[in-house]
Amino acid sequence: MSAPVVAHTRAEFADARAKLDGSVAVVMTMGALHEGHATLIREARAANDYVIVTIFLNPLQFAAGEDLSRYPRTLTSDLEICEREGADLVFAPSPDVVYPDGEPGVRISAGPLGTVLEGASRPGHFDGMLTVVNKLLNIVGPTRAYYGQKDAQQLLLIKRMARDLDMPVEIVGVPTVREHDGLALSSRNVYLSEHDREVALCLSKALKAGEAARNSGPAAVRRAAREVLVHEPLALVDYLVLVDPVTLEQVPEYFRGEALLAVAAKVGTTRLIDNIPLVIGGDR
Ligand code: AMP
Repeated sequence: MSAPVVAHTRAEFADARAKLDGSVAVVMTMGALHEGHATLIREARAANDYVIVTIFLNPLQFAAGEDLSRYPRTLTSDLEICEREGADLVFAPSPDVVYPDGEPGVRISAGPLGTVLEGASRPGHFDGMLTVVNKLLNIVGPTRAYYGQKDAQQLLLIKRMARDLDMPVEIVGVPTVREHDGLALSSRNVYLSEHDREVALCLSKALKAGEAARNSGPAAVRRAAREVLVHEPLALVDYLVLVDPVTLEQVPEYFRGEALLAVAAKVGTTRLIDNIPLVIGGDR
């Protein structure tokens, strides 16, 4: 595999992008790449002529007091992973390249779906995320863009943005990649102490327990998941919800069909999220 072209400026990127003639996939990341990101690149590689990876830690989607300043920065090993997975072009701009005029006045609004769950805990997060995703899609001009189901609300909002704003790109979701013991891979897992990591396992265990109860209806799913979390008092649960995957509204007891069981909790100093799509079945 040959090393990808690495562009830091808009001119370098435009020059390299102009040479790619065919279907182009983009995988957007904030760096600190792991096997989850690698899987996105592989999926993109399999279905497109070219793969572009963006590495940009977007200040706009971090609120004051969040972890922007301590977020891991590992460009050298990120580029090794991009090369190993066969990326053709990496765009790794600095904030002043992406925002040459400072903070943008005109932004994308996530609307009501951006104010619940993650949006309730992180006001403005999804507007900042969608604004940079929109900018990067405009800069890259891809055929397809790949995002992880790990960030289910983000994926949903990006799909909605593309549809609501008639953006000429296909948004592709990729299932969550996990460690052998179930922990969802995340760049933020490096913040976890060995003990925190043990505690953090309760998130994926709760989701599994909820999934196992899927044929007994929503209340049983919620009860089974909550039962796991209450036994781990060191995980400070922000939310545990069973929602409609399109509206993000809590599903009623009579609901049957596709749902999303999602959890967010603070473990040590780290806020973690996880989710599992499931089909609620059984008799009414
Ligand atoms: P991030 O660098 O955290 O912004 O993530 C970049 C992309 O990788 C997003 O589309 C994430 O949803 C996706 N991603 C992060 N972790 C995972 C994972 N464990 N499995 C699948 N996709 C992931």
